[in-house]
Amino acid sequence: MNHVFNFSAGPAMLPQPVLEQAQREMLNWQGTGMSVMEMSHRGAEFMSIAAQAEADLRDIMGIPPNYKVLFLQGGASSQFAMIPMNLLRGKRTADYVETGDWSSKAIHEANKYCNANVVTSTKASSYTRIPAFTSWNRNPHAAYLHYTPNETIRGVEFPFVPETGDVPLVADMSSSILSRPVNISQFGLIYAGAQKNIGPAGLVVVIVRDDLLDNSVSGTPSLYDYQILADNQSMYNTPPTYAWYLSGLVFQWIKQQGGVASLAATNARKAQKLYATIDASHGFYQNPVEPPYRSRMSVPFMLADKHHENLFLAEALESGLANLQGHRFLGGMRASIYNAMPEAGVDALVDFMQDFMPRYG
Ligand code: PMP
Repeated sequence: MNHVFNFSAGPAMLPQPVLEQAQREMLNWQGTGMSVMEMSHRGAEFMSIAAQAEADLRDIMGIPPNYKVLFLQGGASSQFAMIPMNLLRGKRTADYVETGDWSSKAIHEANKYCNANVVTSTKASSYTRIPAFTSWNRNPHAAYLHYTPNETIRGVEFPFVPETGDVPLVADMSSSILSRPVNISQFGLIYAGAQKNIGPAGLVVVIVRDDLLDNSVSGTPSLYDYQILADNQSMYNTPPTYAWYLSGLVFQWIKQQGGVASLAATNARKAQKLYATIDASHGFYQNPVEPPYRSRMSVPFMLADKHHENLFLAEALESGLANLQGHRFLGGMRASIYNAMPEAGVDALVDFMQDFMPRYG
């Protein structure tokens, strides 16, 4: 199979022009006679690649100068522990919003370091909505408030940014970063595993406000200490250089697409087409998330008749639509439609769904 539309949740599809550029530069980066993979992270060549990637990310996200941008290893999951280690600042409690499986994991990890105060949870109703901000039981002494703007597995997305005043807002943007504009100054810390909207796996990007550095709890390993990592420009040890380089190519591609606002408009259209198909299917396809909270990035759906699911996946693959199986927790199907999924991929999926339905409905 030559070309497929890859709906994988992550590692996910990368923009074709980025892969082509990486291919062209694979053996000989800009006349150096070597691959980026082979370069010293402290050499002038890689330092320029790293600096350019950061400058481009700052540009496309509008990151103010009083925020550090860190390119780290350990995936988004490493931040579940690093955040309490660094941000508790002597406090004993932090607020957590539980709206899906990933925020639940973050809570589990935070409880090793503090009292993770769950301000609201939709676990009992299988994570299908976002409770109104005014209903949350926030602790006035919380060190920060952590939430997950897009829950990747259930496809539940916040339609608002919580306004937490002086309490720093911490967001796991793994599956929503760069999908729509955000106002960085509303946040104390943003983190995102790279393997969805940024680049290949092996990298986690952390954007953290300066005043939240330098507060790590005693005993914090150096590699988990934001201040040490920031002081060393994310090169306290060897960073994931190739993933950093490829992410830089993705940031340039985003600029060429007209930036995040332009991608956001396409993303909204893509999601709308899929949900419209599901909702018009008279229950043949189902998505349980309440409409205002449906994700624009991750669209899970079930077939009314589960017996047809394997057939759906097999026929979809034959039509060049790959990796539509749902998360192993949930089953069913899931279409991850990150920035790199062209609208033509969603159109092809919609056509396939409409063709499949009368044959098995
Ligand atoms: N948070 C969210 C919202 C995610 O979607 C994921 C991965 N799917 C993670 C955290 C964990 O990321 P990683 O595997 O990079 O640790």
